[in-house]
Amino acid sequence: MSQDLNPMIWPVTARRVNGEMSIGNIRVSDLADEFGTPSFVLDEADFQARAGSWAKALQEAFGPNAGTAYYAAKSFISTQIARWIDEAGLGLDVCTDGELAVAIAVNFPAKKIELHGNNKSESEIASAIDYRVGVIVIDSLQEIDRVARIAHEKSIIQGVLLRLNPGVDADTHEAISTGHEDVKFGFSIASGAAWDAVLSVKKHESLELKGLHAHIGSQIFTPAAFELSASRLISILAKYRDEFGVELAELDLGGGYAIAYLDSDRPSSAEEVLSVVAKRVKAECEKALLRLPRVSIEPGRVIVGPSMVTIYEVGTTKEVSLADGSDRWYVSVDGGMSDNIRPALYGAEYSIALANRSSSAPVRNSRVVGKHCETGDIIIREVQLPSDIVPGDLLVVPATGAYGRSMASNYNHMVRPPVICVLNGKARSIIRRETHRDLLALEIEEEPRNIGKGGSR
Ligand SMILES: *Cc1c(COP(=O)(O)O)cnc(C)c1O
Repeated sequence: MSQDLNPMIWPVTARRVNGEMSIGNIRVSDLADEFGTPSFVLDEADFQARAGSWAKALQEAFGPNAGTAYYAAKSFISTQIARWIDEAGLGLDVCTDGELAVAIAVNFPAKKIELHGNNKSESEIASAIDYRVGVIVIDSLQEIDRVARIAHEKSIIQGVLLRLNPGVDADTHEAISTGHEDVKFGFSIASGAAWDAVLSVKKHESLELKGLHAHIGSQIFTPAAFELSASRLISILAKYRDEFGVELAELDLGGGYAIAYLDSDRPSSAEEVLSVVAKRVKAECEKALLRLPRVSIEPGRVIVGPSMVTIYEVGTTKEVSLADGSDRWYVSVDGGMSDNIRPALYGAEYSIALANRSSSAPVRNSRVVGKHCETGDIIIREVQLPSDIVPGDLLVVPATGAYGRSMASNYNHMVRPPVICVLNGKARSIIRRETHRDLLALEIEEEPRNIGKGGSR
């Protein structure tokens, strides 16, 4: 357990004062009293610093050829987040009309939005074109025709990128690795599908092919996979130049930069990974006699992940005897897989700390579990926790900002937790806690009626 609040894992303002943890200069126990538990707490200073540092690192690595650092909305989005992302000079990567609606709600600059997705609906494509998003990243041959038709109907020339699959194994968990061949995303370079897609886009006057894109996975620790992906995309840029005599101007290398969840995790910094990738991109372009394209990235997790923590209250504890004669201490908290599905979904691992006091009690072999009716409702499978933890204690799980609240569900009719923003001793909700009334509000009593052509068949 991270008693020492390892700065690689915890938000920048996390402290322990007289044993009590604080974030943004506010005691965690005060946050729990005011807003209840479970709650997500967002360290505003940490978030702003991370967003700014990725935008800056991209600038420094690529200089005048730096494209846009698109924040991946799916990691966590709200109107407040979208405003901060804009203020920090980043763009926004959205992949549904719901995420686009958040961008539109804050007048996010359209030119700095890209629309992603392997199955964008007609209406999503139409909404994005109506808002004049800078690029649509196309993911299938059918979608090439679909986007071309909708843009043509609106008399618009839509900028597009092609999402390619460079066949890079990003050495991460299967479910979050997308760059190898047998996946739903992108056009495979190896099979020739990528080049077919290039030729197909070129047939449409309503599409402007701006460049190529790849996103090879998530939680990638070293630059090597990004380098390999970039070099394979550059080979297609060279082929394009050879074929058409002009060069594509944009290269989007996607997201997937790792963060630390455990003390043993050693992610690269923005500067480290981007400077290595930039060097490789420059070398490959030189070799192929290509001008340097504008290079963009799509960081999500690495910006919001470490900025947020989850506060839980302990409800019950239970000792369970194991077959080998040892025992395990089950510590149950008041949330679980409805606010953090990642352990159940990917076997993701987290750290945890006792927050309302420090403890010098001997530690016990423990498992932190949620309150859902599932054996797999585990937050931390194995951790050494102080043996004096009692109901009412507060446990805080760091690095829950990405794919925490954004993947939250109402399983067991649990209400989804709020997101509390803290800065300089002040706290406010940016997303409130749901209520039972919110859940019940979805239910309506309708008279059965004939629909469609009516009558029975
Ligand atoms: C998920 C995703 C990202 C962001 O991934 P992170 O691991 O959060 O950085 C970027 N681009 C695309 C296309 C994605 O699907």
